[in-house]
Amino acid sequence: MEGTAVVLDYTVGESVSAFLAKKRQLLIGGEWVDAASGKTFPVYEPATGEIIAHVAEGEKEDIDRAVKAARKAFESGPWPNMTPSQRGKLIWKLADLLEQNLEEFAELETLDNGKPITVSRAADVPLAVDLFCYMAGWATKIHGETIPISVPYMPGAEFHAYTLREPVGVVGQIIPWNFPLLMAAWKLGPALATGCTVVLKPAEQTPLTALRLGELFQEAGFPPGVINIITGFGESTGAPLAAHLDVDKIAFTGSTEVGKLIANAATGNLKKVSLELGGKSPTIVFSDADLAVAIPGAAGAIFFNHGQCCCAGSRLYAHKSVFDRVVDGVSAEAQKIKLGPGMDPTTEMGPMISEEQMTVVTGYIESGLSEGAKAVVGGKRSGSKGYFVEPTVLVDTNPQMKVVREEIFGPVVCVQPFDDDDLDRIAQEANDTIYGLAASVFTTNLSVAHKIAKKIQAGTVWINSHNVFDAALPFGGYKQSGWGREMGKESLNLYTQVKSVVATL
Ligand code: ADP
Repeated sequence: MEGTAVVLDYTVGESVSAFLAKKRQLLIGGEWVDAASGKTFPVYEPATGEIIAHVAEGEKEDIDRAVKAARKAFESGPWPNMTPSQRGKLIWKLADLLEQNLEEFAELETLDNGKPITVSRAADVPLAVDLFCYMAGWATKIHGETIPISVPYMPGAEFHAYTLREPVGVVGQIIPWNFPLLMAAWKLGPALATGCTVVLKPAEQTPLTALRLGELFQEAGFPPGVINIITGFGESTGAPLAAHLDVDKIAFTGSTEVGKLIANAATGNLKKVSLELGGKSPTIVFSDADLAVAIPGAAGAIFFNHGQCCCAGSRLYAHKSVFDRVVDGVSAEAQKIKLGPGMDPTTEMGPMISEEQMTVVTGYIESGLSEGAKAVVGGKRSGSKGYFVEPTVLVDTNPQMKVVREEIFGPVVCVQPFDDDDLDRIAQEANDTIYGLAASVFTTNLSVAHKIAKKIQAGTVWINSHNVFDAALPFGGYKQSGWGREMGKESLNLYTQVKSVVATL
C-alpha cells in the first residue's frame, strides 16, 4: 500500500507524515526487507480508528532469518570485537539521536498509541533517552570478581580464581503497546550494554516507534544484525521467537497469561527467561495522610496512561476516617480529566489502545456494576468515535469481585475502606492478589510508611507518590507479576552469565 494517503485531523511534522506514508519493512541483518510472505498489516490510530500506516507482517520464516542474522552478529564481525567503551559510545550516540528527534518520536508515539502528546514529550521519549544514557555508562563497568578460594581437599595448593561476566548471546525481546518506545529502550539498553544481539518484536498495535528507532540504530553505526526488528502478531511472530532453539534468552513484557505461554515455549532449549507481567497494585491511604498529596497521588496512580500501566494503582484502600473525602477527591480529579485525541495538546487522557481493549474495560465495569458495585463517576464508554472510556471510580466493591481481583488495564479504580490501624491486616488485604508488581502508601508517619513497605509483597513500593521511574531503579514483579528486574544494575544480570575460571598456581 505504498503511497496510501493518510488522513489526519491535525498537523504532524513532515518527517512523521513521510514515515507513515511509506510501507514499513522488517529490519534483518542491517537491511530493511519485506516479510517472506509479502504480507502487511494495518496500524490504526486509536483516537479515530483510522488506518495510519502499513507494516510488514513477519512470521516464523522471518524470525528464523532474524535469529540467523543476530547469531552471526554475535559471533563474528565488529560487534564481539568492540571494546566496552566503543559499545558504550554507540549507545550514547543512539541516545543523542533519539533526543535530537524527540518531537518526531513523540508524535509517532501519540498517533500510534493514543497517549497525550504532552506525556510522550515529557515522559516516554526523555525516559527512553535517559535509559540509553544510563546503560551506555554500564557498558564499561560490567565485570567479574577475583575470589580467594580454599579447597579443603587440596591442602597447600595455591589458586588464582576469578569470574567473567559474559553476554548471554542472542536475545528475543517481545514488548507491549502501552509504552512502546520506552519498553523497547528498557529491553534494548541492557542487551546492548552487555554485548548481546537482539531480535525485537514490537506489539502489533504499536510498531511505529520501534521501526523508527531501527533507523536510528543504523544511523548511529551499530553493526548489521546486532538489532533486528520483526513486526507481526503474537502467535505467528512472538511464539516462534519464544520457542526458537537458537535464541539464548527471551525477555517479555505483557500479560501474565501470555507470560506463562512464553515460559512454556522457552523450555525447548531451556533459554533464559525474564518476564514483566500484570499487576493489581494497591494504593493505601492512611488516616494521617496529607490528602492534598494523597488524592492527586491516588488519582494519578490509576489514571496515568489511561490506566494502561502494569503498575496502575487499581485497588485503592482508604482508612474509614478519610474514605469519603478520598472518594470525593479522586472522583473530582477524574471528572476534571480532559479526554481527547492525544495530538491535541490540551488532552489529558487519550483513548484505549483498541476497540478490543475498550470492550474489555467496559465489560469489567459492567461486571462490577452487575455484582453490586456503584460508579461514583464514569462507568461507560465516552463518545462514539475512537476508543474512549470515562475515568471510573467504583465503590461498594468486595474482595471477591472480578473488578477487584483481575487486571483491568483501563481507567477504573475500586475504592475500599479499612477500619483499623493493624499494619499486618492492611498488608494482608493489599497482598490478597496473585500479582506483586507495585504499591503505594500515603501517610505522614515515617515509621508506618517503612513498616508497611516491608510487609507489602511487590517489586516497587512508592511512599507518598506513585509512578516514579528512573533508569537506575530496578522494576519488576513478585509473585505472578514476573521474573527478574528491568532497569538499574539488576537488569544487567538478565543479559549476562557468569563463568568461573580457576588456575592452579
Ligand atoms: P495485551 O493483552 O496487553 O495485548 P499481550 O501479553 O497479549 O498483551 O501482548 C504483549 C506482547 O506479546 C505483544 O507483542 C504480543 O504480540 C505478544 N504476544 C501475544 N501472544 C503471544 C504468544 N502466544 N507468544 C509470544 N508473544 C505473544
